[in-house]
Amino acid sequence: MISIEQLSKNYSVHGRSITALNNINLTIGKGQIFGIIGRSGAGKSTLLRALNLLERPSSGKLFIEGEDITTYDHRQLHGLRQRVGMVFQHFNLLNAKTVAANIAFPLKLSGAYTPEQISQRVDELLQLVGLDAQRHHYPAQLSGGQKQRVGIARALANYPHLLLCDEATSALDPETTQAILRLLLDINQKLGLTIVLITHEMQVIRTICDQVAVIDAGEIVETGEVVDVFLHPQHVVTQKLVAENQSLDLSMLAQIRRKGGSRLLRLTYVGSTTHEPILSRIAVKTKAEITILQGVIASIKNTPYGQMIVELSGTPDEVLAVQALLHEAQVRIDVLEDLH
Ligand code: ADP
Repeated sequence: MISIEQLSKNYSVHGRSITALNNINLTIGKGQIFGIIGRSGAGKSTLLRALNLLERPSSGKLFIEGEDITTYDHRQLHGLRQRVGMVFQHFNLLNAKTVAANIAFPLKLSGAYTPEQISQRVDELLQLVGLDAQRHHYPAQLSGGQKQRVGIARALANYPHLLLCDEATSALDPETTQAILRLLLDINQKLGLTIVLITHEMQVIRTICDQVAVIDAGEIVETGEVVDVFLHPQHVVTQKLVAENQSLDLSMLAQIRRKGGSRLLRLTYVGSTTHEPILSRIAVKTKAEITILQGVIASIKNTPYGQMIVELSGTPDEVLAVQALLHEAQVRIDVLEDLH
């Protein structure tokens, strides 16, 4: 669907050049929800806005559905903007127009539909985002979540193939954020639409994304399936973002008095093993002692996972036997500390 090749963007500020994006390479598959996460100033907006050429790259290629959009002329660009919808953090609604008129606006602009077609499309979109009862309301009469529903309906009006979401939930409270994320997931599944979103919150990524790219100082530092990146972050920036969103608190461990000769392990279970009593089965098979110090069971999109910090003590043979049994049960083991 999207292939980004050696994309760079420099801004010139008072004669000085600022590198916002440096040699970005990414592939985004059709029908995916792809998240781009990074701190403020990392380059997320610049990258997202390059995907509909609201921001022109300084160099590199940007293929959408097989065409390099950086070569587009004015007319082709107009066509591209119809195929690519965009949802904004601060909604960007027309305050003097009703909900229905806001949604109809891009359809009128396109000049491709009759008034009847527009009215029918608006009805469909109001149903899709659950705002049928508010069709005659003005933006000032809506909650933040309702405003974003209008923003999403408007972005979908022209039957886009790609939806770009620019921090779409950052201005919303946690409950409304979850409702809007569920709506985006629903749209992705119902319409098979590809969604690219940018966010600074790992919670957003783990709730709806399939793949994630982590951006820092204009460069992609890590990319992959959300389950892999979230559970086994490699880059220090990713590790920090994940730690902020995790219930396991490693700093607490320093306060726990441990026995000599024990080994501190982090165990990660993914998928169906999450709900199996693996530890108790292993405990009855060995003489080693397994003490659970911390644990969490949660999910990443639709995949359940469990993470636990355990203290394992016993003879070296017993410890190795437990690790072998865990390995057999497809539990990933990270040795956090060996206490001799
Ligand atoms: P993010 O969305 O991750 O916060 P941005 O893409 O907005 O990051 O910005 C990346 C870098 O580019 C920052 O250093 C920012 O100051 C700079 N930048 C962004 N837009 C402009 C602009 N229009 N002019 C000059 N510098 C810009």
